[in-house]
Amino acid sequence: MPITVMPVEGLPLIQPGDDLARLIAERIDLVDGDILCLASSVWSKAKGHLRRLEAIVPTERAAAIAAKTGEDPRFIQAVLDESSSLLLEAPFVLSVLSHGHIGVRAGVDQSNTETGQVILLPPDPMGAASELAAGLLDASGARVGVIVTDTCGRAFRRGQTGHAIGWAGLTAIRDFRGESDLFGHTLQITEEAVVDECAGFANLMMGESDNGVPAVVIRGLPTWSGHDDLYWHEGEDLIRAALCAVHNVPEIR
Ligand code: GDP
Ligand code: MN
Ligand code: MN
Repeated sequence: MPITVMPVEGLPLIQPGDDLARLIAERIDLVDGDILCLASSVWSKAKGHLRRLEAIVPTERAAAIAAKTGEDPRFIQAVLDESSSLLLEAPFVLSVLSHGHIGVRAGVDQSNTETGQVILLPPDPMGAASELAAGLLDASGARVGVIVTDTCGRAFRRGQTGHAIGWAGLTAIRDFRGESDLFGHTLQITEEAVVDECAGFANLMMGESDNGVPAVVIRGLPTWSGHDDLYWHEGEDLIRAALCAVHNVPEIR
């Protein structure tokens, strides 16, 4: 069976208060088992998770980091306010967020929004995905999985890709452990981050600039089973431990 990936065309510029489920369901016929991928930036716009730079007074810490990165201290303050801790201050801020995601500049975006305004990540991306799935069931009658995506950098490799920061109606990981390979060896290690692979393709269809496609539907992907433990726990994450050991960045508050 082929897998189909379809952009949701014709969505307007999203404003605080917009009903995303209804706007999406009006533009595409969803069926049970579809996976709707939504750019987190657009969820945040609809929910008003936005800040105006002119209303932000930077702390000394934000000013000191901004002097190192060459960014606006008010923007850095917005990043610090979204971060529960930092792994790096420079050459870019690398933040740990309260929901487990680790992202450059806490995922705070200055693109695809008015000048002088920043878009914050959804404070509860898992809740956002559940709420959208329930809204889509209501608006379309279809029981769909939802993945809330963001464009993120990666360790070791140049170039950003789409990552899942929230999901509902499916598991993050397909667990291959215990299955046999072609030669009858039992797989010991392989867990596939299917939500990130879906988010990666969806992000490719969204584009990053003025495409105007914040929602993408994946249809025909066979179901899988696994678990939702996508983030390394502290202590398991070797890269995080190495960054902390080398940089020893002070606590935020
Ligand atoms: P992020 O990856 O969640 O940070 O979001 P991006 O800023 O990269 O935007 C992803 C896609 O959504 C791009 O195609 C943008 O052009 C589009 N987009 C962003 N905001 C809006 C909006 O308010 N309305 C519409 N129709 N598209 C938007
Ligand atoms: Mn983003
Ligand atoms: Mn993007």
